[in-house]
Amino acid sequence: MSIFSKMIDGEISCNKVMENDDFLAFHDINPKAPIHILIIPKIKIKNFQEVSPKTMAGLTSFTQKVATLLGLDKSGYRLITNNGSDGGQEVMHLHFHLLGGAKLSWGHLSDSNSKNFI
Ligand code: 5GP
Repeated sequence: MSIFSKMIDGEISCNKVMENDDFLAFHDINPKAPIHILIIPKIKIKNFQEVSPKTMAGLTSFTQKVATLLGLDKSGYRLITNNGSDGGQEVMHLHFHLLGGAKLSWGHLSDSNSKNFI
């Protein structure tokens, strides 16, 4: 069972931001921006590659509400999902990183020189 499943089941606590029957948003334990929220579905889905359009529709609406609650709808934000090994996914339960609260740089997202891949 992943750490996020344990949060959904209430076995371990999280710093909750918003919740409904289907989704949960909470603060990342190791924030990479002034605001760093993780948004997850309550049903077990490994990653973006396995999520259905129906779940994504609900997740989209929920994420927009979280962004608005935190004022990020006005200031802007970045939404990321890491998928699989090369994507750097560490927790095998679908999650989106909602990052904001500052002007975010872009270069730090890659450990490699992108020119090598063009
Ligand atoms: P990934 O690399 O899988 O896309 O991201 C996993 C995220 O989960 C990381 O940003 C990491 O800081 C966060 N994380 C891992 N364990 C915990 C935890 O126990 N509590 C919280 N709130 N975040 C966690």
